[in-house]
Amino acid sequence: MSDFEIKACPEIWQSLGVDVERFDKARRMLGETYGKIFLSQKNRPQGMAYFDGMIAELHSGRIKELLAAKEQGRPVIGTFCVYIPEEIVIAAGGICVGLCGGSQGSIPDAEKVLPRNICPMVKSVYGFKAGRICPYFEAVDFVCGETTCDAKKKTWELLDRLIPTYVMEIPQCKKPRGIALWLDEVKAFKTKVEEAAGKAITEADLAAAIKVMNNKRKALQRLNSLRHCKPSPISGKDSLLIEQIAFYDEPIRFTKQLNILCDELEQRVQAGIAVVPANAVRVMMAGTPMALPNWKIHNIVESAGAVIVNDESCIGTRYFKDLIDESVTGMDKMLAALTDRYKNIDCSCFTPNNERVSQVIKEFRDSQAQGIINCSLQFCHTYNIEEVKIREACEQEGIPCMFIESDYSQEDVGQLRTRVEAFIEQLGG
Ligand code: SF4
Ligand code: SF4
Repeated sequence: MSDFEIKACPEIWQSLGVDVERFDKARRMLGETYGKIFLSQKNRPQGMAYFDGMIAELHSGRIKELLAAKEQGRPVIGTFCVYIPEEIVIAAGGICVGLCGGSQGSIPDAEKVLPRNICPMVKSVYGFKAGRICPYFEAVDFVCGETTCDAKKKTWELLDRLIPTYVMEIPQCKKPRGIALWLDEVKAFKTKVEEAAGKAITEADLAAAIKVMNNKRKALQRLNSLRHCKPSPISGKDSLLIEQIAFYDEPIRFTKQLNILCDELEQRVQAGIAVVPANAVRVMMAGTPMALPNWKIHNIVESAGAVIVNDESCIGTRYFKDLIDESVTGMDKMLAALTDRYKNIDCSCFTPNNERVSQVIKEFRDSQAQGIINCSLQFCHTYNIEEVKIREACEQEGIPCMFIESDYSQEDVGQLRTRVEAFIEQLGG
């Protein structure tokens, strides 16, 4: 379907200070790519129409919603990491948007300032702001970074020159004193958000926000379980897309639409309707997050005839596998329960991080996959080094595993395709 278009909204982009000419070119290219990668799939669930619509409204309808919220005095906050507690922002009546860092297009802007040999996600994020080519970046009140990896925390110092950048300190070890620091940081973030919202967050506000986010995470868990069915009723590309949209859509609407899709997927499972032949090779992805619009590896894998049945990443299970205990009451205890949930996210920035290794093996078994493709973005030291432990665990368990280190460019696509096809063949494809 080549007539797909991401809608334009030049007057709003102009009012936000976006470089309209450049951005419009990127919008058209993204729409074309989307049509080729997603709308060419056969036998897609009907419920994907909502998510196609969200992509069509990516740079228009959703931006208008953010601006309308700002007019009502609600803060709009940009984030880059799943360690930032969205519940606090929602509790204050605000909106949290994950700012994409998955595009090659913004990297030349970043490389005018940042070193070339750092992670493409960090460069992509910085370049979007430096080049004024993202209406989300221009619409937010401020952004919230974190001290996870070195590339990020040093980039926030420079990003702060372009947009107010609040930084949340995330410890490197999960020792009791690290967790105590973390809780303090959650409290400080709450104060910061309350200042932006001009209102104090009550226990009732926080309880409601926790419910909203738990429901959203439960819907994503439901999608993930359905992907695990054999044969899988939805493609890995569509599942990744939904997980990417989760970072910018309105959470209650998103949850409702995802549950509608999951109802359909349940019926497909009952009826044995799949997107790929029943004997297609089942692959699980692990590693660094695939931020919108990074569909590169998923497209290569599924174009080779395999189906991706699980994403162990921050645009995947790390975002939704853990919930906050809703039975806790009292602001201090609720914030502690919230921190407790966030500390279970097993990012490779932590040391030690053995829980991630066990989690990868668990997800491999749960998803009935036949092999793992473990991906790291180029120059991401923590995931690159943690690959050693993932590989060792896979060898010990007899799990076929392939490691890919890549960036957002198209330069290595040919080589990756050859490697992925060989891996799929090894898995019986
Ligand atoms: S990989 Fe780590 S630093 Fe990156 S988004 Fe996930 S939790 Fe945050
Ligand atoms: S992928 Fe790695 S280097 Fe890049 S932002 Fe995430 S943790 Fe940092």
